[in-house]
Amino acid sequence: MASIFSKIVAGEIPCYKVAEDERHMAFLDINPMAPGHTLVIPKQEIDYLFDMSDEDYLALELFAKRVAKALKAAMPCARVAEAVLGMEVPHAHIHLVPIQTEADMNFRNKLSLPGDDMASIAARIAAEMK
Ligand code: AMP
Repeated sequence: MASIFSKIVAGEIPCYKVAEDERHMAFLDINPMAPGHTLVIPKQEIDYLFDMSDEDYLALELFAKRVAKALKAAMPCARVAEAVLGMEVPHAHIHLVPIQTEADMNFRNKLSLPGDDMASIAARIAAEMK
């Protein structure tokens, strides 16, 4: 069965898209730790990030780097933190979270923002993509 992220890639369920290229996609986490929390995925479904080929893994990280720079420009923060868990969704993904302090990187802290706010945050990050 296709993962929920493959359904997003296929356009079967909606997302707040931030960026896309031929092989990758970035969209807002539906329950962000902080406004702007973004997930970066390979379009091709694979469960575990560290099972990816070196080439695919490096391409994903390079795409995530571009997204992280756009995220920092759009959402003022001290750093963009990166994390890999994969405990909930079995489709490789990188979390990018704008943080002011270490305490902001808290996976138990899940926000639910209004759809209009999510849409405008995604548009702000997308506008910074180079
Ligand atoms: P994990 O697999 O533990 O790295 O966590 C998966 C993340 O995906 C969580 O932070 C969820 O809030 C997020 N998530 C789950 N479903 C969706 C969705 N449909 N759109 C955006 N983010 C999602």
